[in-house]
Amino acid sequence: MGNRGMEDLIPLINKLQDAFSSIGQSCNLDLPQIAVVGGQSAGKSSVLENFVGRDFLPRGSGIVTRRPLILQLVNNQAEYAEFLHCKSRKFVDFEEVRQEIEAETDRLTGSNKGISAVPINLRVFSPNVLNLTLIDLPGMTKVAVGDQPVDIEQQIREMLMQFITKESCLILAVTPANTDLANSDALKIAKEVDPQGLRTIGVITKLDLMDEGTDARDILENKLLPLRRGYIGVVNRSQKDIDGRKDIKAALAAERKFFLSHPGYRHLAERMGTPHLQKTLNQQLTNHIRDTLPGLRSKLQSQMLSLEKEVEEYKNFRPDDPTRKTKALLQMVQQFGVDFEKCIEGSGDQVDTANLSGGAKINRIFHERFPFELVKMEFDEKELRKEISYAIKNIHGVRTGLFTPDLAFEAIVKKQIVKLKEPCLKCIDMVIQELVNVVRQCTNKVLHAAWLVWQGANEVLHAAWLVWQGANEGAACSMVGLAGSQ
Ligand code: GDP
Ligand code: MG
Repeated sequence: MGNRGMEDLIPLINKLQDAFSSIGQSCNLDLPQIAVVGGQSAGKSSVLENFVGRDFLPRGSGIVTRRPLILQLVNNQAEYAEFLHCKSRKFVDFEEVRQEIEAETDRLTGSNKGISAVPINLRVFSPNVLNLTLIDLPGMTKVAVGDQPVDIEQQIREMLMQFITKESCLILAVTPANTDLANSDALKIAKEVDPQGLRTIGVITKLDLMDEGTDARDILENKLLPLRRGYIGVVNRSQKDIDGRKDIKAALAAERKFFLSHPGYRHLAERMGTPHLQKTLNQQLTNHIRDTLPGLRSKLQSQMLSLEKEVEEYKNFRPDDPTRKTKALLQMVQQFGVDFEKCIEGSGDQVDTANLSGGAKINRIFHERFPFELVKMEFDEKELRKEISYAIKNIHGVRTGLFTPDLAFEAIVKKQIVKLKEPCLKCIDMVIQELVNVVRQCTNKVLHAAWLVWQGANEVLHAAWLVWQGANEGAACSMVGLAGSQ
């Protein structure tokens, strides 16, 4: 393979990936990885299942993949799977793996088909796989269904971008052959972040579904929309095959036969198909890790230093330490300020579609409620005219005047303005009430967050240790890698 001594690189990065996942998104070191992107039903899940040789991914219409799935394939004698979130349990029945992915997806997103960027980490051990780590991402979609947020397209796009903008990420762009390739969602989004096509690998699925008389030879020969890493064609199981429970071994044999017997692809047969794709990805990921290791190493080292400091701090952690208390209090106050401002100024996250609240409610009090109160005020024009005339006459006394005296104006206007006092006070009361509500809401949130922080302190400490250990190994292994590549 030309990668002697490098077989450990992928498992090593897997370890780091696990460590980072347990800390959460905030610790973002750019690990070399492969992200799978494509439109809905492009065949992403099928490709991944073919690698493993098992049906284990949730299927169905709509957005099925709703959290990133970090799928670590590990070559191993025994076949089983395990999740990072329940490490003690070994899954040997792949139907249960599917159920666990579904349950774990719903745990964070609710069952209303929302999405979340927090990944699920699944490790599959199998004699059929080559070491390879892939991230399955939600398919790009145009329309929201059910009570999905209307901006679901934008949300998915942003999530994909989070992964693929990083230079360290290889992009596996999955495009079905039976649609217009120039309009491929996958190739379009890949081109945005990798305009020269340096880190994009093209996968063309559904070659068996192309119209008779057409083929994808031009694109597979890398002539049509060239990518430096080229394209690989695959034929996955059709829906009918899946419903008929055609097993993946038979599907792989059928795929091989398809390429060997097709006049347009026969000459490419050795470079097509799922096994070749798997081998290529294993090689490219390994090489990619080797290339990115020097940079990764220096980043890891600097992170290690700061983490060591942090771990030290945690070790000296005293719950009653006054500086810590002050810091926590300050953070809570700051958080309160941010939340309060969001409630008043409005914000795009977690939009309430059922009730008006905060700034919007105050806006309504000013612009709807207040004018309404004003209109409601009783106003008798005849009486007013009488008052004006009496006021003018009383000011003039025995004299007769030519002009309306200022004093009359003032007397009348003052009397009118007093009438505004009551509706104004009413509105102020309403605004105060709403502000009290907002303050109460924000306080609750801060208290809840404080509780979570308290609970999480131990977990962070543990995770920090994991990264610290991983970083140590990373540094050691990159030395080996560097030595190996020289
Ligand atoms: P995903 O949404 O990108 O994960 O797509 P899936 O892998 O779930 O595939 C969507 C549908 O297309 C399923 O019904 C698959 O059986 C079918 N499909 C995927 N790849 C192929 C292929 O190469 N040939 C045929 N005939 N059907 C395919
Ligand atoms: Mg899928």
